[in-house]
Amino acid sequence: MVGAGPAGLTAAARLAVRLDGGVLVLDREPEPGGVPRHCRNRGFGLRDLRRPLTGQGYAHALAQRAAAAGAVVLTDATVTGWSDARTLDVTTPEGRLRVSADAVVLATGARERPRHARLIPGDRPASGIYTTGQLLTGLADFTGHRAVILGTEPLSWSTVTTLRRVGCRTALLTTERPTPGSYAQRLRHGATVATRTRISRIDGRNGSLAAVEIEHLVTGQRRTIPCDTLVLTGDWTPDHELARAAHLDLDPVTRAPLVDPTLRTSRPSVYAAGALIHPGGTAANAAATGRRVADQVLAQWGGR
Ligand SMILES: Cc1cc2nc3c(=O)[nH]c(=O)nc-3n(C[C@H](O)[C@H](O)[C@H](O)COP(=O)(O)OP(=O)(O)OC[C@H]3O[C@@H](n4cnc5c(N)ncnc54)[C@H](O)[C@@H]3O)c2cc1C
Repeated sequence: MVGAGPAGLTAAARLAVRLDGGVLVLDREPEPGGVPRHCRNRGFGLRDLRRPLTGQGYAHALAQRAAAAGAVVLTDATVTGWSDARTLDVTTPEGRLRVSADAVVLATGARERPRHARLIPGDRPASGIYTTGQLLTGLADFTGHRAVILGTEPLSWSTVTTLRRVGCRTALLTTERPTPGSYAQRLRHGATVATRTRISRIDGRNGSLAAVEIEHLVTGQRRTIPCDTLVLTGDWTPDHELARAAHLDLDPVTRAPLVDPTLRTSRPSVYAAGALIHPGGTAANAAATGRRVADQVLAQWGGR
């Protein structure tokens, strides 16, 4: 498995019990768990582990389950490429490794597009602009007080709560959509939503974010919202570098590796699962593809 997030760990736990070991999970991070490891909010575990957990608790439970099943989880291990069709090049603090396997499952996840990839005009302040992933990993040093959030997905709303916990008020959520998203979420969080709008300019002052300008898509009317924090949510891109390096067929729109119903990619010994193939989904969905891919790998390679 490349990636010790919900998809990779779930696949590893299911495979390792049936293969009597023989399952290695590689992750470049110092701890297993993937994105949920950085999430302190609840909202994980109910569907797949049947109990409500914080992201951190969920990551811990999945890692424990994989280890208890006999999978070996190697952290600080970055897969940098392929030596041949079934052999991965891995860099660790102790040196470089080559890992060969009958089957390789890519479960490398997805990330939100950063500011530079979103073509938002204006200044380029050194601080104050985050994706939700960047916000969560840097929360200990966060000092913002007034935020604008781009997007109205469930993750955008949970960002309102995350920011409030660290003393930052959300002035506005902006979306190009005609409706503001979940009514229940708006009631609960009490934040204002500007629909049919886009960010038309970012203003910086002394290297920090000072304001964003939003433009109404229909009327063209613009207004400036002073803020020291801008959080860019949604607009996912799959972490597909290893798929590209293997010259796997990619979806022309999402750039995720193309998979058949057995989650096999265009290279027969390479499978893909989780947010890599469904960017923007929930952790439970990623875990579900982990279970599916484990069954397919077993069906194909389990008898060897
Ligand atoms: C900020 C944020 C909040 C979220 N909140 C929720 C929520 O409340 N509830 C919910 O259900 N879902 C939530 N999600 C979505 C959920 O986290 C994802 O659906 C889930 O983590 C996807 O699991 P995954 O295993 O596919 O990928 P990931 O969790 O992204 O794990 C991929 C792993 O692959 C590793 N990796 C990548 N490339 C390499 C490489 N070359 N070598 C070695 N390792 C590599 C990464 O280090 C990472 O650990 C949230 C997502 C974000 C970004």
